Amino acid sequence: MAQTTPNHTQTVSGWAAHDSSGEITPFTFKRRHEITGIITKVGGNVRKFKIGDRVGVGCLAATCLKCEYCEESQENYCDQVQFTYNGIFWDGSITYGGYSKMLVADNRYVVRIPDNMAMDRAAPLLCAGITVYTPLKDNNLVDTKGKRIGIIGLGGLGHVAVKFGKAFGHHVTVISTSPSKEQEAKNNLGADDFILSTNPKQMQAKKRTLDFILDTVSAKHSLGNYLELLKVNGTLVIVGAPDKPIDLPAFPMIFGKRTVKGSMIGSIEETQEMMDLCGKHNILSDIEIITTDQINEGLDRLVKNDVRYRFVIDIAGQSSHL
Ligand code: ZN
Repeated sequence: MAQTTPNHTQTVSGWAAHDSSGEITPFTFKRRHEITGIITKVGGNVRKFKIGDRVGVGCLAATCLKCEYCEESQENYCDQVQFTYNGIFWDGSITYGGYSKMLVADNRYVVRIPDNMAMDRAAPLLCAGITVYTPLKDNNLVDTKGKRIGIIGLGGLGHVAVKFGKAFGHHVTVISTSPSKEQEAKNNLGADDFILSTNPKQMQAKKRTLDFILDTVSAKHSLGNYLELLKVNGTLVIVGAPDKPIDLPAFPMIFGKRTVKGSMIGSIEETQEMMDLCGKHNILSDIEIITTDQINEGLDRLVKNDVRYRFVIDIAGQSSHL
């Protein structure tokens, strides 16, 4: 199942489960779009960056630059968007993301990493971080404190969302199907409360208590019970895998005046803003570093959901903490 193109002769493929069935099938790496490094060369027209700068590249490789979304710095919603993996770059070549010692990126899509942030722990913020930051910002939760927010799911996205929620001064509740996440959420990540969503008593007790919920779960699930945790005019935002199946409740009473929205990553401007805030609040992703010869082992563990919370591959062969 290896991919080759006229432009790229190197292949990156492996075996992994594509859904919760656990069935292992050929897999071409896609999620290699959280990339950090040091600039080694700049083009003649680049003014924003210089050699030696600490930078990151997230999901976006290129956009049309002309549509209303590009013009309003919402280029993540451009319908010509090209991603840093399986996209087509300006020069017509296929993008292969970050599994290489070198990456060429257009400076419009490059983000500066603050000096106090470890490069490896900053990397996942370029996708997981911005994915959860943008809905918080869009719902006025970055500058306004003291709201009661719920985070459904405590994985790569959810754990960063908890850190943001606390840094921005909110009461944060983690909602999970896994009892073992309670201690982790409260003791390690600083969450204020925990709801075991498979426990009807706990769900009932917390009805109509939350102003805002961020749903980070990628497996198929129904939203009905979660909506009832919201106050009647609250908002639930769905992030993460764009094709995740959601069962929406049909009964209008469940909705009340509640709003359900989606959100997909974020713009480059928002990514830089998020990264600067992370530098200021000392927010980093919790990661496990692996080297290139441990990728298979990493994939095996990903299949079992056994990672806290992101694997970061150290391509350079040495962890570049600072
Ligand atoms: Zn566009």
